[in-house]
Amino acid sequence: MMQEIHSSEEAIQLEDRHGAHNYHPLPVVLSRGEGVYLWDVEGKKYFDFLSAYSAVNQGHCHPRIKEALVAQAGTLTLTSRAFYNDVLGPYEKYLTDYFGFDKVLPMNTGVEAVETAIKIARKWGYEKKGVPEQRATIIVAEDNFHGRTTTVISFSSDENARTNFGPFTPGFIRIPYNDLSALEEALNAHPATVAFLIEPIQGEAGVNTPDEDYLMQAKKLCQERQVLLLADEIQTGIGRTGSLLAVCGNCNCEGHCEQQETYVEPDILILGKALSGGFFPVSAVLANDAIMEVIHPGQHGSTFGGNPLGAKIAMTALEVVRDEKLSQNARALGKVFRERMELLANKSPWVSLVRGRGLLNAVVINDSPDSSTAWDICVALKENGLLAKPTHGNIIRFAPPLVMTLEELHSCCDIIENTILGFQKKRA
Ligand SMILES: *Cc1c(COP(=O)(O)O)cnc(C)c1O
Repeated sequence: MMQEIHSSEEAIQLEDRHGAHNYHPLPVVLSRGEGVYLWDVEGKKYFDFLSAYSAVNQGHCHPRIKEALVAQAGTLTLTSRAFYNDVLGPYEKYLTDYFGFDKVLPMNTGVEAVETAIKIARKWGYEKKGVPEQRATIIVAEDNFHGRTTTVISFSSDENARTNFGPFTPGFIRIPYNDLSALEEALNAHPATVAFLIEPIQGEAGVNTPDEDYLMQAKKLCQERQVLLLADEIQTGIGRTGSLLAVCGNCNCEGHCEQQETYVEPDILILGKALSGGFFPVSAVLANDAIMEVIHPGQHGSTFGGNPLGAKIAMTALEVVRDEKLSQNARALGKVFRERMELLANKSPWVSLVRGRGLLNAVVINDSPDSSTAWDICVALKENGLLAKPTHGNIIRFAPPLVMTLEELHSCCDIIENTILGFQKKRA
């Protein structure tokens, strides 16, 4: 029998007893969402400042996406790729037009898309670049986050994510983030390099924002040596950083435009999270023909990848981003948010730094990374009606849905300001 939940306490106990303890959630039990708001089991209303790690850029339960889901759910949900379906083709055309690539390989979760990009890059390396068998090397960055599969944690620098999960997949080299000479050195030292896999802004690591020309120069270094640039925009993409993609640089047109001189074209673009507006796991790997053509029938796939339900949801989720000008809103609101937080940093001993782009921002808390201060501030924010989560110890990421209004943003900044100014550290 399915058990009904009557209190937050009850829900937390059930998860604790019956679920694996692979997360450490903030103690709040949510039961409803709409736009920028969430409600807990007791009916208390919150501003969402995490957006499910940027998966709900379009806001919770967006009515247009919901409508598309409901209609498609009653029509056709899954055929597998053993047969064609009448939504996948239109989706593939829509997506490739939207982001400016020849082809897409549809998957479900983010990490699957990362795995897919790695496989394509390796195969391209052997078949197109002529890298010797078993030698393909991929360069990645220190403090990267690309997901949780065995191969992907093989090149993580987070010991907690790796310990006792070995043996690991070989073929990866880690270099410091935002360090062009380290990249150049690694490229020179490893001629069998097929790809450089990078987050344009490192979200999980604490919204590490690289120098303005880092990606552009990295792309140049890669291009000179016939190395593919793989952009993991699972968290930064789809409006979050104030442009359609973080690789668009400071372009603020609503769509994709290769004309923009700040655009750094990845050879492989990896998308997930907000691609479905939080309704259903949908991820995608985009590339041009010269790369994607290395994949032939039977060499890669997924039962659910490209299913009509996910495809319809994703098309609608992207229409919402464009029609509601969410990138531009993220850009405008992000500026206001950072201004307000910088004012706060001047007033509070707890805030040492504010950084980010668009509505992907972080506030660095002035305490040791092992202290619980960021966590305690998040608990206090929750009491005051705003949900955010610490990342990497003493950093709080602030990433609300992009449908927020300016007035709402100011209310949120008031909550953050009052909470942090009133914050007292617990005595040990
Ligand atoms: C969330 C995320 C992933 C993994 O996505 P999942 O859907 O959780 O597998 C990969 N890369 C980045 C940058 C992410 O933010």
